[in-house]
Amino acid sequence: MPMIRESVVQKLYQPGIGQELWDFANTLYPICRSISGNGVRETLSHINQKIDLQIHEVPSGTQAFDWTIAPEWNIRDAWIKDPQGNKIIDFKKHNLHVLNYSAPISGKFQLSELKKHIYTMPDQPDLIPYRTSYYNINWGFCMSHDQLMSLPDGEYEAFIDSDHNPKGSLTYGEYFLQGESDEIFLFSAHCCHPSLANDNCSGMSVNTHLARALTSLKGKTRYSYQFIFAPGTIGSITWLSRNEDKIRRIKNGLILSCVGDPGGPTYKRSQAGDAIVDRAVEKILRDEEANPNIVDFWPYGYDERQYNSPAFRLNVGLLLRSRFGLFPEYHTSADNMDFIRPEYLEKSYKNTLQIIDILENEYRTVNLAPHGEPNLGKRGLYGAIGGDKKAYDANLPVFWMLNQSDGEHTLLDVATRAKLPYERIHDAAKVLAENGLLRVEG
Ligand code: ZN
Repeated sequence: MPMIRESVVQKLYQPGIGQELWDFANTLYPICRSISGNGVRETLSHINQKIDLQIHEVPSGTQAFDWTIAPEWNIRDAWIKDPQGNKIIDFKKHNLHVLNYSAPISGKFQLSELKKHIYTMPDQPDLIPYRTSYYNINWGFCMSHDQLMSLPDGEYEAFIDSDHNPKGSLTYGEYFLQGESDEIFLFSAHCCHPSLANDNCSGMSVNTHLARALTSLKGKTRYSYQFIFAPGTIGSITWLSRNEDKIRRIKNGLILSCVGDPGGPTYKRSQAGDAIVDRAVEKILRDEEANPNIVDFWPYGYDERQYNSPAFRLNVGLLLRSRFGLFPEYHTSADNMDFIRPEYLEKSYKNTLQIIDILENEYRTVNLAPHGEPNLGKRGLYGAIGGDKKAYDANLPVFWMLNQSDGEHTLLDVATRAKLPYERIHDAAKVLAENGLLRVEG
């Protein structure tokens, strides 16, 4: 039955949880992940300690729409030794030093030859870049440009102990909470990047803790919630190819990526642009910040590309702090655990709970005493709502709810028109409903 629900922010948000979010991201950070392999498994096993994750293995060679799951990649060690035999780069010190998905190699090379397999960023010469080569099998290393420039000529030894197993699999994890309705809201985070903190240990940590918090409301939420932890692109396409029944039930969703840095906040709209998720996220970010960065959908980025593709159109937006690709730390060794901070992880986490509050209460409302204003004084409501001492300010959300409850407007409509924080409109609606002055329509 439709009703104004208690705020999940008030129920579930624990101030100070940012440290726990950061600590969990820090646990995931050192792991060398890729689109398949043991790094993804190890990552999911950590998540599985927080929530009862369903972990799937899909064999290499399996078709997923237009894609074929690649041979599984694993790496054990990699290094380069200089002509004196000193290790000048070591995978065990930083996993970005290896081209992700690199083929194995063992041999001696003149510097000029070796350079063809070394990736650097001349414009950010002190950082190691993150580079991948999933579908063109190649071998390679990444290092700072400064380091490359400092190398004397001579014979170097290069070693990469990795393999591509055609009998391996792609691994992804999911977690599902059935609500009162079969309609599903999706939260998804990619789990394929190696040691990059914002992109996307931050997203995995927020997604995990959100799933864990919502578990305490299992069966009592309006919507069902689907959480996905999958390698970017191929992982979400694989999930989509195996979940036709659920896809029909998903109307909205959110990708969580780069949610821990001091920039932003940023929201990239779904392809539709005006879905409930778009309106909800925009309202929450505008409540929180003077100038959030709200950008229209464009078909490049994270897995919103897959979920919003023509066959699915799942209305999935992307929540970020800084916008991917625009912050200088993006896809470099500077995207480390110093770059993400507990307070910003906590803000992003709280934002997701605030968004859920909007979704869960997105009903049109009807004023049950619509002939003029109801007498709030005789009900003990006048001036008694909200915590503010100034009566005008305290009562404003109530008057907005009463005025706009004509069966045409939802709580979000009212909060947006009133330019009041959603939380206050929600509180007012709840009090009015409890006092028999308001009912909600499904
Ligand atoms: Zn990335």
